[in-house]
Amino acid sequence: ASNPSDAPVLIIGLGRFGAAAASKLERLGREVLVVDTDAALVQKWSGVATHAVQADAGDIDALRQVGAQDFSIAIVAIGASLEASVLATSNLAELGVPQIWAKAMSHSHGVILQRIGAHHVIYPEAESGDRIAHLVSGQVLDFIEFDDELSLAKLRPPLAARGAALSTLALRRKHGITVVGVRSPGQKFVYAGADTVVGDDDLIVVSGTAADIDSFARWS
Ligand code: ADP
Repeated sequence: ASNPSDAPVLIIGLGRFGAAAASKLERLGREVLVVDTDAALVQKWSGVATHAVQADAGDIDALRQVGAQDFSIAIVAIGASLEASVLATSNLAELGVPQIWAKAMSHSHGVILQRIGAHHVIYPEAESGDRIAHLVSGQVLDFIEFDDELSLAKLRPPLAARGAALSTLALRRKHGITVVGVRSPGQKFVYAGADTVVGDDDLIVVSGTAADIDSFARWS
């Protein structure tokens, strides 16, 4: 389990978020222990998850009993109860779990989680709201924001990005974006080069800041 990409994952809370994370990790072949106070939920999951245990993550001894201290990765997927989320996170920090991911319902919730020892704070509602705004705003078909500096988007190329070699269009200088790759209908994705010419029916993948990508997508 020294390789983080196959270390078992402890998931606290089997709401929609925790359940989705657990299912995906299992499909990826990861060993998962799910913990929830709700006996019926644990029962439902015991046939699916590698291990499902009924326990209160607000109780540090209960966490010790399920072996939480042996996990290198834990996800606190409790949203509705701020108190439960904070207690579970601080208990995992106290047990020395080196990589704690915690879901926050608001910015201040996230600040608290970070202060008490969460290493990564996730804002699923804010993030998906942000994403949907990009998707409905125009030509962007898919959008991932990694951080303030880097997003990737798949889009129909703006008119002025078509029909000439990328090097002559100077999109990086003029728009702050880089065309990463192109997909022509019925063909495989190919990485873009200086000589790449984007056609009318192509889809392109670009990288840049969210703001630069948005203004590029509207440029025609
Ligand atoms: P979502 O919005 O993703 O559905 P919820 O906050 O509604 O998330 O669900 C959180 C889950 O966490 C619930 O199933 C709840 O039973 C569980 N839970 C809440 N408090 C604790 C706790 N102290 N220990 C373990 N599980 C908990």
